[in-house]
Amino acid sequence: MSPAGGEEFDDLISDFSRFYILMILYEGPEHGYGIMRKFKRRLGKEVSPGLVYPFIQQLEEKGLLTCTLKPVGRKERKICELTDEGRELCNRLFRRFATLISTAIEPSLDVCAHCGCKVYEGGYIEVIEGKETKFCCIHCAESYKREKGITS
Ligand SMILES: [Zn+2]
Repeated sequence: MSPAGGEEFDDLISDFSRFYILMILYEGPEHGYGIMRKFKRRLGKEVSPGLVYPFIQQLEEKGLLTCTLKPVGRKERKICELTDEGRELCNRLFRRFATLISTAIEPSLDVCAHCGCKVYEGGYIEVIEGKETKFCCIHCAESYKREKGITS
């Protein structure tokens, strides 16, 4: 059920720092030092080169990242860029993370049985075929019953 490389990838990003490094790389090509700088600026927290560089290397070995030497200012730096596969994995990962977050912050949120929109408060409940069914509004309840051929 897990996508290709899914579980292995989970091990790889078992902490938040790695996750955040991926987010930085997802925004665009960056070198190791640049990653550390962005990390510090945004999170107000240092990330160790001992974490960044081995992680970059792991990603590169897995074909998720390509690194090329390019001149930056007067120095040459290894610029790292996610491959298509890398971006795809990030997409999946971010989506999964977003789902986790929304589950955590919206534990009691109901979804309209008809249109699928989230019902933040109120809503409309109707007992349909013996089951309490939640809708965002009475119109959705009507449409729902009409579509299912329920007359009550
Ligand atoms: Zn609705």
